Amino acid sequence: MLDHGNGHLAESANGRAVGPDKTVANAVVQVTDLRKDYRLGADVVVHALRGVSMCVVPGEFVAIMGPSGSGKSTFMNLIGCLDRPTSGVYLLDGVDVTSLSPDKLAELRGSKLGFIFQGFNLLPRMDALENVMLPMMYGGVSGHERHERARAALQAVGLVDRASHRPSELSGGQQQRVAIARSLVNAPSVILADEPTGNLDSRTSTEIMGILQALNQAGATIVLVTHEPDIAGYCSRTVAFKDGLVVSDEPNRRIVSAADVMSGWPPSDEESA
Ligand code: ADP
Repeated sequence: MLDHGNGHLAESANGRAVGPDKTVANAVVQVTDLRKDYRLGADVVVHALRGVSMCVVPGEFVAIMGPSGSGKSTFMNLIGCLDRPTSGVYLLDGVDVTSLSPDKLAELRGSKLGFIFQGFNLLPRMDALENVMLPMMYGGVSGHERHERARAALQAVGLVDRASHRPSELSGGQQQRVAIARSLVNAPSVILADEPTGNLDSRTSTEIMGILQALNQAGATIVLVTHEPDIAGYCSRTVAFKDGLVVSDEPNRRIVSAADVMSGWPPSDEESA
């Protein structure tokens, strides 16, 4: 048994499913025997998730890894409340989301979850500030407070001076920083990042991981899907999926500091100009 130091235990890999053996009181995400089948026509069923049990506690920075088709996106869609499991239990901040109505689910998604995508998913006709304000549209937040909170979120990602720029006027890394600010603005319980560096060069990827590490150190809980071991090295725990199961779940013994990596770089053209 592996003790993750966060109150849950897991069987070691060997191709077997691993997962917690008890409910963790303060878990932000707790899934138990989560299964998802996709039915293709009358006879074909794809078992995309075949019984996933795991939990994420506040302050963790979890990397989800695994080969293509192993169930990572399906898992993220379920914990992001974008889809419902075929069976199993999902508690988000202690709330059983599998029994909620679509309206309640959407409300919970908006208040408890922040999303960061590979393709940034910013609205092109809105400037950075307006994009960051979007998740607050349905939360009953006053216009003035929306504005203030969006500016603070842009400040947190070092981009407040680009508040009035549209996405097309920003680099890929800057667009992803706007998307990170947008994910933060409702102070979610967990930020879900799906290949957030997948469209970025390696230098910009390190910068983005530096921002995510800083947010994590300030208390944000993050679950991030990546194909790249280098990117997982910035996280504090790696969960590996294979064939719809979690096959290993390990704390990272040597977390790489993106700030340390960046401190060894020569200045970029932009910085030295
Ligand atoms: P990953 O993100 O690790 O690449 P996915 O979760 O996308 O894996 O896919 C897991 C399995 O489920 C794959 O066999 C995939 O083909 C299948 N799958 C994913 N989404 C659907 C869908 N909407 N309909 C049918 N099969 C799907």
